[in-house]
Amino acid sequence: QPKTIGILKTPNDPRVCLLPKEVKRLAGELNLNILFEPGLGSTLQIEDEEYIQAGATSQSREFIFKNSDTIVSINHTFSDEDEIKQGCCFIGIFNPLFHDTKLAIYKKHGATVYSLDLLPRTTLAQSMDVLSSMASLAGYRAVIKASEIYDGVFPMFTTAAGTLTPVKVLVLGAGVAGLQAIATARRLGAMVEAFDVRKSAGEEVRSLGATFIEVEGYTESANAGGYAVEQSEEYQKKQKELIHNHIQSSNIVISTANIPGRKAPLLIETRSVEAMQPGSVIIDLAAEQGGNCELSKNKEVVLHHGVTILGNSSLSAEIPAAASKLLSNNFFSFLKYKQKAETQTNDPLLTGSQILNEGEWTHPHFNKNLQ
Ligand code: NAD
Repeated sequence: QPKTIGILKTPNDPRVCLLPKEVKRLAGELNLNILFEPGLGSTLQIEDEEYIQAGATSQSREFIFKNSDTIVSINHTFSDEDEIKQGCCFIGIFNPLFHDTKLAIYKKHGATVYSLDLLPRTTLAQSMDVLSSMASLAGYRAVIKASEIYDGVFPMFTTAAGTLTPVKVLVLGAGVAGLQAIATARRLGAMVEAFDVRKSAGEEVRSLGATFIEVEGYTESANAGGYAVEQSEEYQKKQKELIHNHIQSSNIVISTANIPGRKAPLLIETRSVEAMQPGSVIIDLAAEQGGNCELSKNKEVVLHHGVTILGNSSLSAEIPAAASKLLSNNFFSFLKYKQKAETQTNDPLLTGSQILNEGEWTHPHFNKNLQ
């Protein structure tokens, strides 16, 4: 008897977690019975008929909840009123480290939950790594967005009427999003500086033609898996000072600095914003995690002393066709991997991304912090 997988739309998110191409592979390669909510691909002008052609069946949301072994969506779709099959498994990108209160309902209903943003960032997990694929698009989109708001030009213009100097872009945090922002800004002709606490980021920054700025005295942690860790107060002070000095000559700042599971580091103080030229732009991709800029507000545009500060941690949703293409591959790869690895105990990717198993906390973070 093939297992049933239900694909649901996520309200207020134009991205789609599985496209017809991958649905066809789920039916063919994984032998799954596939249900989908009508209008699943409507934000991308994908007709229901394309999903039907790929081997899926259109069903109501209620029917999908009651009859699926696995439910897939980008984000939360489940509410207390929904009836689910016993032991139903939910797969999505739930950002549980920041929105853990939403998990109680899954526990109450005895569900199993996997969140793809918790996957360990290993080579094996690369094809399923939703954080990397979305961060990469967000970094690109941040520069495009900044270029629309900024009233100057990106490349140098030499004309008979005079010369326009290229824009100066400062990128804070040179991880996946930051490096893509650097590459995009460079392609448009900007002069780019970038800052990261990790010394190893310097080589990548320079290879993209940007200048790496750094603060001495960063303490690495061997247990952080290549991620940044919180630093001493003295280091943080020096870092704010360095940014304050560099930001004054920057026209555009793209900030992407994050520490997994923590509030984002505060890098841009109000006095630094006030030292910028009017007309400058800050795009804060860490806004959902509290923001890298003291003044940024998530999903809002703030105008302060002539500087526009846009806080948005989900810019990939503004290019939903591109985002869905990558997500659909990420979700398919995870489902394929899960089907194969499920028979083994303690698979590192499955245990790393699982939050609940039939209503019991399995992830160490939630085990400790929630009841
Ligand atoms: P992230 O989103 O957690 O953080 C973004 C960047 O902010 C990181 O580069 C981090 O060092 C930096 N940062 C943190 N605190 C800072 C501060 N106070 N000031 C300035 N910068 C600060 O990170 P990410 O983009 O997801 O990637 C982090 C690391 O993981 C990188 O080394 C990346 O290459 C690696 N990675 C590996 C894989 C893989 O091997 N499969 C996949 C993705 C990422």
